[in-house]
Amino acid sequence: MPEPLIVLESIRLEYRTGSGAVIALKDIDLTIETGEMVAIIGASGSGKSTLMNIIGCLKRPTAGRYLVSGKETGQLDANQLAALRSGHFGFIFQSYHLLAGLTALANVEIPAVYAGRGAGERHDGAASLLASLGMGERAHHKPGQLSGGQQQRVSIARALMNDAEVILADEPTGALDSRSGKDVLNILNDLHARGRTIVIVTHDETVAARAQRIIRLSDGVIVSDTRNDRKTTLPRAAMPVRESATPKRHGGWRWKDRLRESLIMAVLSMTVHRLRTALTMLGIAIGIASVVSMVALGAGSREEVLSEISRLGTSTLRIHPGKGYHDRQAWKIKTLTFADITALAELPYVSAATPSIREDVTIYRHSEKYEFSVRGIGPAYFVVEGIRLVDGRLFDDEDMRDSDSDVIIDTNMRNTLFGHDATDVIGTVMMGKEYLYRIVGIVEADTKDSEGRMYLPYTSIRKRIVGSDFSYVHTIIVKLADTAPSDWAEQAISRFLAARHGSEDFFIVNSDTIRKAYMRSTDTFNILIAAIAVISLVVGGIGVMNVMLVAVSERVGEIGVRMAVGARRGDILRQFLIEAILVCMIGGFLGTGVAFAFGAGFQSLSTQFHLVYSWASVIVAVLCSCGIGLLFGYIPARNASRLDPVEALLRE
Ligand code: ADP
Ligand code: MG
Repeated sequence: MPEPLIVLESIRLEYRTGSGAVIALKDIDLTIETGEMVAIIGASGSGKSTLMNIIGCLKRPTAGRYLVSGKETGQLDANQLAALRSGHFGFIFQSYHLLAGLTALANVEIPAVYAGRGAGERHDGAASLLASLGMGERAHHKPGQLSGGQQQRVSIARALMNDAEVILADEPTGALDSRSGKDVLNILNDLHARGRTIVIVTHDETVAARAQRIIRLSDGVIVSDTRNDRKTTLPRAAMPVRESATPKRHGGWRWKDRLRESLIMAVLSMTVHRLRTALTMLGIAIGIASVVSMVALGAGSREEVLSEISRLGTSTLRIHPGKGYHDRQAWKIKTLTFADITALAELPYVSAATPSIREDVTIYRHSEKYEFSVRGIGPAYFVVEGIRLVDGRLFDDEDMRDSDSDVIIDTNMRNTLFGHDATDVIGTVMMGKEYLYRIVGIVEADTKDSEGRMYLPYTSIRKRIVGSDFSYVHTIIVKLADTAPSDWAEQAISRFLAARHGSEDFFIVNSDTIRKAYMRSTDTFNILIAAIAVISLVVGGIGVMNVMLVAVSERVGEIGVRMAVGARRGDILRQFLIEAILVCMIGGFLGTGVAFAFGAGFQSLSTQFHLVYSWASVIVAVLCSCGIGLLFGYIPARNASRLDPVEALLRE
């Protein structure tokens, strides 16, 4: 004796509402055998739909046992119920519950997607089902372009898609005119004739009369259960329905198809609400664009400074008074003198030593007044600093002794005073406040963004600008001999000067220590960038979360339909997560594009800043935006996946 298909034992169902419990079903005992066609009839509110939803595993009873093919359903979790639903039951609803954005064909395919069937098989199956229901011509129409009767045929095709043993139809003709209603009933009768079990819920006696067994429900209780012995003569609508009796089980989880389905749905819902999607993307795009640009700006200035520093080379040392750059007492120390420079220059491991004295100078030209920075230097300065001569000559020892009016200017100063294409600058005499200066050489400028700089022999700067009692210096630049190991030479110089001064009242920096100090300061900058990045991305993410919450509440009906046709919680979760990630990812790409465009525009306007875009920052930005989608899309997606399918269907 085979197990009966459906067994309900003492089923009770209470709805908990604000004002107490509504008992929708009490002590229902019902057995339905394979191949029966059962009508459940009763007045509105008698509990028919509730009973149907329990049979279809869309709802769990409050009390009692429910068995499908002898299998107890009480212990099954949400996913196992979804699998049972997708394997055994096909639903037909009064209001069709088709997904408006999809074609008839795609709607019919959905159950097969969740059952894990391949695309080709799915497609052929859906097309032949639609054709057999007279809908072959309209397979590519959307529900909005179909009549009620046609939509109901599509939903019947969907119910049959997974070769469901049991078709559950809740008022399938309720919204149809009598002709289309008859067509639908004929189809159901025909399916029954081909061996399917049909349960049809109705309040209409003529509809119930089409079934072999009629169960009357009143106030949640079965009041009669009669067999309709009248042999219904079946009008043979040509119905070559798919004949495989046993539903195919597909263990393999076709992630590609599921992913594709989720992607299609995500894109659909994004295109339905274009403005909303665009604004959400904008939020992410702005965040990403600002982060990528900031990183590029940071990288640009860093690259520039580092190249400056590396120009110094490892064989150049700078000696300053005090204990370090942060030493505020350093200006009081006057022990670093010109005599030190002379002594240092004579050391065997020093190839040159030069002071560097910074001051400002005023130059008058054509009755205009200009301010330039001026450096008092030794003859070795340009060699030590690696500054190239452009025109004229450099200083020699003679210049240092005479301390006359000869000066060297850099290209910036030439451009400021004479213009870019001036040729006969050498020999020109410029007027300062108290002295005249004769240009003997032009060197290249070491930064792009200064008005210009003038170089004087240190003897001249003492005489003309800072005063001749000035015997100490704030910077000595030492170039080491090529043969001297730089670490050893640095220590030797330190010992040498300490012996001269009687104490170590100076500090020595080489390009390495400058680089390190600079890197430390850029670390702070990087932390700042990171903080701004986090803030702007979190703001964008909250926007995404907000929109996703709205999207979920708008699409509760769709979620219910998907669950009714076999979607598991994971499927729903994935669909909404993918949507959130997609929005963020596109926003991320847009933002990166904007950042690049901004960079290009910026570069053409200003030579002062230099932007360096790295692929790493782009990849990190886009990964970050995906992460935001995942993070902020999770709660809305989880909310969606935890919806009760029946509640969800009702809310459509
Ligand atoms: P029918 O389909 O026969 O019209 P239903 O099964 O929909 O009846 O409803 C049975 C009873 O349960 C009704 O009294 C109805 O008001 C109540 N009911 C149905 N759904 C809910 C719900 N979600 N919350 C509270 N009460 C409900
Ligand atoms: Mg109902």
